[in-house]
Amino acid sequence: MAIIAFIGLGNMGGPMAKNQLKAGHTVRVFDLSADAVKTLTDAGGQAAGSPAEAAKDADAVITMLPAGKHVKQVYIDDGVIDAVAKGAVLMDCSTVDVPSAREVISAAEGKGVLMVDAPVSGGVAASEAGTLTFMVGGSDAAFTAAKPFLDVMGKTIVHAGPAGNGQVAKVCNNMLLGISMIGTCEAFSLGEKLGLDPKVLFEISSKASGQCWSMTSYCPAPGIVPTAPSNRDYKPGFAAAMMLKDLRLSQDAAATASAKTPMGKAATEFYEKFVEDGNGGVDFSGVIREL
Ligand code: NAD
Repeated sequence: MAIIAFIGLGNMGGPMAKNQLKAGHTVRVFDLSADAVKTLTDAGGQAAGSPAEAAKDADAVITMLPAGKHVKQVYIDDGVIDAVAKGAVLMDCSTVDVPSAREVISAAEGKGVLMVDAPVSGGVAASEAGTLTFMVGGSDAAFTAAKPFLDVMGKTIVHAGPAGNGQVAKVCNNMLLGISMIGTCEAFSLGEKLGLDPKVLFEISSKASGQCWSMTSYCPAPGIVPTAPSNRDYKPGFAAAMMLKDLRLSQDAAATASAKTPMGKAATEFYEKFVEDGNGGVDFSGVIREL
């Protein structure tokens, strides 16, 4: 069994770290929140005094942090890359901007340490169930070393190419999700205003060419998909503020690549307004209420 340093024990990282404990690994944990640490020590984890202390002599380091600046803080400023042994593998599972992901992996490789960016698709429920999808960027050797640890937390693990490509896949996927959710909301709102029962529109469109995940797995109109947040007053699920974070990352990435993403831009502006209006904690499917 391996020794794992797990840093960032929030809504997603906490259950992911618990799954490493359930798999029989020794898990050393660190978070700025004492409550988050306690939840993990109660489950059998060992508290470390700093990220570097957690990482020293560990076989693997896993991070699940809010954004690129926190990831650079932990790996570079807090000394995780300096502290780890040469044979260790580092996995950043946070959703961050592509340049930050590539910068940190390059710093690790400069010390001869294997590292991947491995952002996830799937929310807290998938994190608890160990059924996340991982989009992994990094060398073949780093992917091979990381995969057994990712297998414990996920169901689908895809090697997306070199360092940073996991984040590229994540922003492209979530930009598409933001756009498709707004489109689904518009269609259900328009249909209802024109006298079409949303259940009938679902029956037709879920089998027709308008079919998409936002409709069939997460329908924003209530009373159709039982597990969707629309049936619990749009409690997340996936909060609009997090969708906005990912859409902004997509627009930053599009600017650096000189890519035209007019619908991604429109979706970003739409969610910006929704969050500014006080809906940051509402599920992202709640935009149907704006229409
Ligand atoms: P969260 O805010 O619940 O957890 C982040 C944790 O990191 C907190 O416990 C915080 O105290 C800790 N932290 C922050 N800075 C730190 C530092 N310097 N050192 C140590 N700990 C630090 O966030 P979350 O919902 O768990 O999301 C984590 C990441 O996963 C984000 O990048 C998010 O975009 C991504 N993500 C979230 C979801 C979701 O549904 N929540 C889905 C997919 C991806």
